[in-house]
Amino acid sequence: MGLKPLVCQLPSDPVDFETAMIIEKLTVSPLLENCYIVGDPGTMQGVVIDPGDEAGRIAAAIRRFGLTVTKIVNTHGHVDHVGAVADLKDLLGAAFYLHPAEKMHLERLPEVAVMFGIQDARVPVVDVELADGDTIMVGELAMHVVHTPGHTPGHCVLVFDEHVFCGDLIFAGSIGRTDLPGGDYPTIVASLEKAILTLPEATILYPGHGPATTVAIEKQFNPFLRGLRPRQS
Ligand SMILES: [Zn+2]
Ligand SMILES: [Zn+2]
Repeated sequence: MGLKPLVCQLPSDPVDFETAMIIEKLTVSPLLENCYIVGDPGTMQGVVIDPGDEAGRIAAAIRRFGLTVTKIVNTHGHVDHVGAVADLKDLLGAAFYLHPAEKMHLERLPEVAVMFGIQDARVPVVDVELADGDTIMVGELAMHVVHTPGHTPGHCVLVFDEHVFCGDLIFAGSIGRTDLPGGDYPTIVASLEKAILTLPEATILYPGHGPATTVAIEKQFNPFLRGLRPRQS
């Protein structure tokens, strides 16, 4: 579809309504987690990906763009990614989408949140279970779900053509931890080979922490991808 990225950092950034998709990154919480708001300028429908904290700030950004958000979709259930889901559901009246294998992390949310200094974290109700191969429409934008376990058992990446929201699967120069409960190194390697190395080189990766990058840059510089090969299934 040839969508052009539009990463708006300032309220005054222009929006090209003919060709753009709105991609707003909000870095939240002491763990510097990236929450993304993705919007279709044609219909002004939007989705929130991984609202980890600061529900009020995320809701204000949605209002600033004039978007209607009825879906909150998470890559995985770690506290730094789901901390604001319950509050944001209340503010927006949106449905929450998560892979069912993330249940273990959701249930541990209150105790883990306290360890990270996040008080009163509420466990959000999952309204729609994600599955590999799902397509979720955001206005006229299609978001494809790819199951990428390894960092957590139900981790998924969310693909809008050449824009991939990859949670904690891969970062600029690194990959997600596999030493936390439910993590597994051979499994994350298989997910990287299936979901990242099969993408076109120009694909932009929007990780759950740190700056955006591209498949080409990571193939060249990410030490964790050395020796890995694209795998189709
Ligand atoms: Zn994580
Ligand atoms: Zn994270």
